[in-house]
Amino acid sequence: MSRTKIIPIPVLGRHAVNAYLLLGRRPVVVDAGTPGSARTIHDHIARHGVDPADLALIVITHGHIDHFGSAAELHRLTGAPLAGHVADLGPYRTGRVREPYLPTGPMGRLMARNRKLHVQAEAFEPDVLVKGETDLADFGIEARIMPTPGHTAGSVSVLTDDGDLVAGDLVANSFMGLIPGKPANPPFHDDPRRNLASLRAMLDLNPRALHIGHGTALDPERVRRWATREQIRLDRREARGRLHVRSGG
Ligand SMILES: [Zn+2]
Ligand SMILES: [Zn+2]
Repeated sequence: MSRTKIIPIPVLGRHAVNAYLLLGRRPVVVDAGTPGSARTIHDHIARHGVDPADLALIVITHGHIDHFGSAAELHRLTGAPLAGHVADLGPYRTGRVREPYLPTGPMGRLMARNRKLHVQAEAFEPDVLVKGETDLADFGIEARIMPTPGHTAGSVSVLTDDGDLVAGDLVANSFMGLIPGKPANPPFHDDPRRNLASLRAMLDLNPRALHIGHGTALDPERVRRWATREQIRLDRREARGRLHVRSGG
């Protein structure tokens, strides 16, 4: 079994927005950054000794602009097919994110006003339409695409046979990567409970590291402790919500 190397591709800042290069028997890219970053990703791959024309696949983790923004352009530059989940086809086909963004906290409420999150990206049609767990052996890496819905309905992660989980926005670093190693919610989740269930399901598979869209790699033990606290927080919030409904408030 060949080992799959995980190489972060900084799209914005040092790790504010990441794409990833997965090097197995063949190279695969996960995520395509914000609009206008295809050349950055292309050149970064080349610097790692990979001929971008050899790229076997580009996996898009979900229908947010900072992940699929340059998908169409990167596809044109490299010729590699694009993979995306059927439940995020709307954003992929229109180039528009499903609105509104649902903030997970103050950071998200602030960010939702950022004009850059509401621009239209170039639309694309996935060449590989993901509908369930998808083996990537045919694309030259020992890994699977795992549906991890919640952040968006069509969110996916890539899990290598070595245990590296390339997780998109399933979890993030505090303050969009400013506090390395500290797990936190990304600014938005369409469905926080469903996302947390997806995250816990992935942790149950005992990954050895989580490689995320915003921030540096996370230690699964630390994410597990954070996920337990987050579950308690969401349960309490829901219980409070039910109390309000009962009292008619
Ligand atoms: Zn996202
Ligand atoms: Zn993101």
